[in-house]
Amino acid sequence: MAVTIKSAKEIELMREAGRLLEIVHDEMGKIIRPGISTMDINECGDRVIRELGCKPNFLNYGGFPASICVSVNEEVVHGIPKKERILKDGDVVSLDAGLIYQGYHSDAARTYAVGEISPEVQKLLDVTKQSFFEGIKYAKAGCHLFEISAAIDDYVSSFGYGIVQDLVGHGIGTSLHEDPQVPNFRQKRRGMKLVPGMTLAIEPMINMGTWKVEWLDDDWTVVAADYLPSAHYENTVLITDGEPEILTLHM
Ligand code: MG
Repeated sequence: MAVTIKSAKEIELMREAGRLLEIVHDEMGKIIRPGISTMDINECGDRVIRELGCKPNFLNYGGFPASICVSVNEEVVHGIPKKERILKDGDVVSLDAGLIYQGYHSDAARTYAVGEISPEVQKLLDVTKQSFFEGIKYAKAGCHLFEISAAIDDYVSSFGYGIVQDLVGHGIGTSLHEDPQVPNFRQKRRGMKLVPGMTLAIEPMINMGTWKVEWLDDDWTVVAADYLPSAHYENTVLITDGEPEILTLHM
């Protein structure tokens, strides 16, 4: 699939898709505490998406059976919500969510502490989030795509964490996954030149230990191969003539 450059009209729709997804994340974030199930989070996210007049884009995507990916501790991404999976004090939980607004997709992820977590795990969450902001320093017209990848890699590697390589960020628009792929690790080449109107889902997935991952028997849940904690932070970003516009986060 070719890289799509969004028109002014399409950018307005992408902005709204992003703005609404931030509301979904904010609502899910409010219910995170020990004792709730990962299905409770899915039900909250699914309900808010529909109340906003949107559709969940993850539901049935490639057969995924839920609207929100809820991944606990060593689970990196694509955790399937379950009634019997109860969050406990000291867990971390990654919520990956997306929606469709008038045919346009948004995609964003956050990792939350459940109750009290160790300083070591909090640092993993902080570095993962910051790595996104390090990456988007290069999400500008005139920069090259893999400058984003290199900036994320350099920052994360300075802490000795493992960068997941089997899964990467992506273009987004009228499809959830469009070209180009956006790796979170350094590439040999510099990649395509960025131009205004590109929309990218930039999403570092960072492991406390090894970068290697495995798939559980459900064929969805991706886990760190050493079963140490993992974190995920993602926003949908618009390339402009100036600073990047983060469509799924308004500070
Ligand atoms: Mg994504």
